[in-house]
Amino acid sequence: MALKGMFSKRCLATLAVGAVMATIGGSSAFAGEGGAHWTYEGEHGPAHWGHISKEYAACSEGKNQSPVNIASVGVAELKDLEFSYKASKLNIVNNGHTVQADYDAGSSIKVNGIDYQLLQFHFHGPSEHTVNGKPYPLENHFVHKSAKGELAVIGVLIEEGAENAAFKGIWASLPKKSGDKKASDVSYSAIDLMPKSKAYSTYPGSLTTPPCSEGVTWLVLNEPIQMSKAQIEEIKAIIKDNNRPVQPINTRKISTKAPAKK
Ligand SMILES: [Zn+2]
Repeated sequence: MALKGMFSKRCLATLAVGAVMATIGGSSAFAGEGGAHWTYEGEHGPAHWGHISKEYAACSEGKNQSPVNIASVGVAELKDLEFSYKASKLNIVNNGHTVQADYDAGSSIKVNGIDYQLLQFHFHGPSEHTVNGKPYPLENHFVHKSAKGELAVIGVLIEEGAENAAFKGIWASLPKKSGDKKASDVSYSAIDLMPKSKAYSTYPGSLTTPPCSEGVTWLVLNEPIQMSKAQIEEIKAIIKDNNRPVQPINTRKISTKAPAKK
């Protein structure tokens, strides 16, 4: 029964976040956020998401699901990502699944000529994408949406190393308990949580949480960023294990940019 109590608390948190998403995003891809509850373990864990609700059917039936293992990568003529990020105050919510920082309007990336507005970023641990079968301690997802409502998500892998100065400032604003919200006092730029090199691997995928909607352009940066062991442990203590296992690649191809010709 204690378990049931925990689930319903999580559902309330999810509903609250659904309302926030509806006002800031309005994306149909997030429509299921207010739907049936789901978790990362047990009877409502990733293996069962597709059967919890009809709206989540893509989680088990989809053929273009995320995350994936980044192994054999095809070389392609990809354009550089163009960043137009501004600093923003962060409205951070602990929604029971992750800690999510909602970003002010006015920051965008350009991918193959299409502008995508930055909506929010959030954390997973361990990483959802793996590289040659290897998971990283954490992964940060920067969620963007085009005028047409299409999503592009930048994945940044986080390895253990030097203390991350940018994250040090954000840390004080992280809501520790499910349902908690905090607003940062100062502005941060999301670009400070990315590696210097913006070289990336890309493939067509999905949301990694229910409703697992497809049509998401994934852009996983090739170079990880570093955080200290203490910083990683602090985030992990809040988000627990919130990684969906890697999904079959099926007929998809992962592409990365060709090295510059000499
Ligand atoms: Zn994510």
